[in-house]
Amino acid sequence: MTSAYLNWWRVVLDGKLIHGSNFCAAELGHIKVSMDGPDCLCGSQGCLEAYCSGSALTREAKALHADGQLLVDGMTLEPKEDVSAKHLIQAYKTGNEKAKAVIELGAKAMSTGIISLLHTLNPSKLILCGVLGPLYANMIRTYIKDHGLPSATKVDIIVSELHEPALLGAASLVLEYTTRRTY
Ligand SMILES: [Zn+2]
Repeated sequence: MTSAYLNWWRVVLDGKLIHGSNFCAAELGHIKVSMDGPDCLCGSQGCLEAYCSGSALTREAKALHADGQLLVDGMTLEPKEDVSAKHLIQAYKTGNEKAKAVIELGAKAMSTGIISLLHTLNPSKLILCGVLGPLYANMIRTYIKDHGLPSATKVDIIVSELHEPALLGAASLVLEYTTRRTY
């Protein structure tokens, strides 16, 4: 069974984590979905992370706030509180159309990257991890169904309930390498 774990961005193929030739496989956050998209922390542009990660949403939240378009009725900021992705999500859930557009663009970007992944690997399961997983899940399901190849989009998309997927993943890597060296 092929599974793709997103957010911690890893691919498990036939029960084995895919590493690549020099251990940088499955840097799925840096799949480019646009040639001239927003700057990414990796130095490139248009990567998935530049659209839909927590840092990307924070960037957009700060931009909206600078334009006076983030806070809507029912939202407040403490005097020294930093604007973050949390506020963008809160604005989205409160009916802010600008925040909605940012979230939907993030979901569209993520779905576009995921479709490439589905067409490449044809996994049976796709697991969305992290706090943004529940936010994007239904939008991703809909977009993939509407834009992917029918044969490749018959994938079970679920949201992980793990609280610290990155830490668990890192621990599993250590365990795997330790075991490999032992035997
Ligand atoms: Zn990047």
